[in-house]
Amino acid sequence: MDRRNFFKILSTVSAGAAATSCGHNTSDALIPLLVSDREIIPGEQEFHPAVCTGCGAGCGTLVRVMRGERTVTRNGEKVREAIAAIKKIEGNPLDPISGGRLCARGQAQVQSLYHPDRLQGPMRRTGSRGAAQFAAATWDEVIGSLAEKLGKADKSKVLFLTSAAASSRLLAIQRFLDAIGAPPPAACMLGNLTLEQQAAESTFGWKGVPVYDLGQARSVVSIGADFLGTWASPVFYGRQYGHFRQGRPDLRGRLVHAESRMSLTAVNADEWVPLQPGQELPFTLALARLLLEHNLAKDEKAVPREVLEGMREADLHLPGVEEKRLRRIARELAESPAPLVIAGTSIGHSNSFQALRAAHFINLMLGNIGQPGGVLPPAPLLTERPLNGNLTEAIGQAQVVLLDSANPAYLQSGSVQALNKAEFVASFGSFLDDSAAYADILLPVHHPLESAMAVAPSVSARGNITVSMPFVKPLYDTRSIEETLTALTNKMSVMFEAPTPKSFVEPHLSADQTWEQVVRQGGLWPLDNADTRLPKPDAALDAAPASFSGDASQYPFHFQPYLSVQYFDGSGANLPWLQELPDPVSSAMFGIPVEIDTQTAAQLGVVNGDAVRVESPHGSLEAPAYVHPAAVPGVLSMAIGMGHTHFGRYASNRGANPLSILGPSFGATRVRLSKVTNAEAQLIQFSLQDREEGAFGHR
Ligand code: SF4
Repeated sequence: MDRRNFFKILSTVSAGAAATSCGHNTSDALIPLLVSDREIIPGEQEFHPAVCTGCGAGCGTLVRVMRGERTVTRNGEKVREAIAAIKKIEGNPLDPISGGRLCARGQAQVQSLYHPDRLQGPMRRTGSRGAAQFAAATWDEVIGSLAEKLGKADKSKVLFLTSAAASSRLLAIQRFLDAIGAPPPAACMLGNLTLEQQAAESTFGWKGVPVYDLGQARSVVSIGADFLGTWASPVFYGRQYGHFRQGRPDLRGRLVHAESRMSLTAVNADEWVPLQPGQELPFTLALARLLLEHNLAKDEKAVPREVLEGMREADLHLPGVEEKRLRRIARELAESPAPLVIAGTSIGHSNSFQALRAAHFINLMLGNIGQPGGVLPPAPLLTERPLNGNLTEAIGQAQVVLLDSANPAYLQSGSVQALNKAEFVASFGSFLDDSAAYADILLPVHHPLESAMAVAPSVSARGNITVSMPFVKPLYDTRSIEETLTALTNKMSVMFEAPTPKSFVEPHLSADQTWEQVVRQGGLWPLDNADTRLPKPDAALDAAPASFSGDASQYPFHFQPYLSVQYFDGSGANLPWLQELPDPVSSAMFGIPVEIDTQTAAQLGVVNGDAVRVESPHGSLEAPAYVHPAAVPGVLSMAIGMGHTHFGRYASNRGANPLSILGPSFGATRVRLSKVTNAEAQLIQFSLQDREEGAFGHR
C-alpha cells in the first residue's frame, strides 16, 4: 500500500466500535474470526495504525478491521454479538522502522488477540503454587489483596519484572514504583540489548543502542549479530539490507558475517565465517591488528593508546579461520569507501561486552562514526530502559513479585523455586504461562491491539514514537495496566498519575504538529536530530577469553540456544500460526530440534529425527536431532521456544526448553550428547532434500 492510499483509507472511526446484535443459540467460538475472506460476507474495511509489541523494535503497523461476530454467554444464554474484528496486520508505510513491512511474529499478533486461552478476567489461586488452578474473582477483590500486600511489604523488596519496551506503559510502571517507594522495574526478556547499550555507553558515552547505517554502507563485516533473524530490529535492518544489496544503481554492498551458527544473516551473506563459540572477541581483535599492521586505519588516534597496544598483540591463529582469509577480509573492509562493522550478541558469552567494544573501536579507526554508512548515535532516550540482570537472585530476595508479561520461570529455571517461595506473586499477563502458574492473583491486561500506547523503538537514530489508540473494544473483562496501577494507588492512598500516550508524546510536538495528526498517522517522527559529536573513549579493553560452564573432558560440546524467528524468547510459542511456520534455515515445523554437525552425528550414529539427550552440569533435555550440514563441528545449537510447563493448549508440555540446562551465563555452557535408543522423537521438516545437498567449505 502506498502513502497516498494509506491516507485515503485511514479511518476516522473511533474506539469501541462494537455493537450488540440479536441473540442466537450457537456453539461458535472466536476462532471463526480467523476464517478466510472468501467465507465472510463482504463489508466495509477500515485500516488503523497501531504498534507491534512482539519485540522491542516497536514496528508501526496497519490493522485491517471488518465487521465480525462472536458468541458470548449472557444470563446463561449464548448470544451472537457483532464486533469490530481484526482481520490482518501489515506494516505502516509511514513508519520509519517498519516502512510498511512486518515480520511473521508481528503478523501473528492477531492470533494472540483471538486466542482461546486468553485470560478473560481477574482470578485468584485455588490450588498449590505451580498447579495453575485459579477461580474467577472480582477486580475489587484482586486489587484489594494486592494493595494490602504492597502496603505491608518492605518496599525495597517489591520486584516488578517487565518485558515492556521503552513506552508510556513502562513509564507508568516506573512512576507507580516511584510513588509507592519501590525500586525501578527490572527487565525480564531475552534480546533486550543490555550488553549493546552498556558497550555503547562505555565506548562512546551514548545512552541507547547504536544504529548501523547499513543501507548506505558498501562493505560490512557483521560479528555475532543475526540482524536479519532476531537481533535488535529485524524488520528495520531487513529493509536496510534490501537497500544495501539492490537499492542503489550499479552498487551492491558486500557482507561478511562471522557467527558460530548458520543463522538467517549467515545464509544471506556473501561470505560466512564460522566461529567457535566465544571467538567473536579474538576475531574482532585480529581484524583490528591487521588494519593497524597494513596502515589501513584511517583514524588511529580516535582509539586510546593502550587499546591500540592490546590490538597489536592480538592472536591471528583462530580455530577454523585461516590467517590469509582474515587478511583479505580486513583489506576489503578498510579499502571500501563506506566500511562498517556491525556487532551484536545474538549468542552471549562472558567476553561479549568486550567484543562489542572492540568492534566499536574498529569503527572509530575506520572513521565512520556519525557518517553515512557508519555507526549513528541513538536518539535520546525517552524513558530509562531496564536492563537484564540475574532474575533468580532478584526474585529470591523479593517479598512481592509483580509480573508484567514476564516469564522468569521459562527464561531461568532456577527462578521457579524462588517464585514458589515469594510471599506474594501477581501477574498482569494475558495468558497463564509458566510463571503465572505460581501467581496468587491474575490481573489480565488488555491485548496490545485493544490498548492505547506510545512506544519508542529500541533502534532509532532520528528518534520516533509509534502510537496506537484503541479501535476495537476489549473482548474480555481485562484492564489496561495504567488503570490497574491507578486503582492500586487509590486503595493505598498514594498520589499517582498514570501517563497517557498523549502526555508521552506532547512534549515532543513541534509548533506545527498536533496530537490528532500523530494518532492519524500512527506516530511522531523524527523527534530530534541525532548527536553526531565524535566520542572520546577512554576505557581499556580486556581481551580475556570466554569462559564456559562445565568441564571440557566430561562435556565436550558447546551448547548455544538462540532466539527463534518464530517464537523469539518463547513468548510466541502458543500461536499455531508460528508453530506451523518452517524455520527459515532448518525448515523444522511444530517443534524444535537440536542442530548437530555431520561429523558428530556420524560418530554417534545419529540421523535426522533420532531422539538425542543433551546433558549439561545443570540439567538435561531430550529432543529430535537435526543433522545440520552447516553446523560448526563440536557446537550444538537449539532455538528457544518449546518446553513450556504452562502456556495454554498449544504450547504446554511440548518439546524441550534449551534454557533449562544452561549455566549462569546464557550461551556459555558445555554439554555431552548421546543418542536415545528407547524413545521416539518427531522432527517435521518442510523441506529436506536440498538441505542435504549443500557443500560447505569450513568442514
Ligand atoms: S521486528 Fe517483528 S516482532 Fe519485533 S516489533 Fe517488528 S514486527 Fe513486531
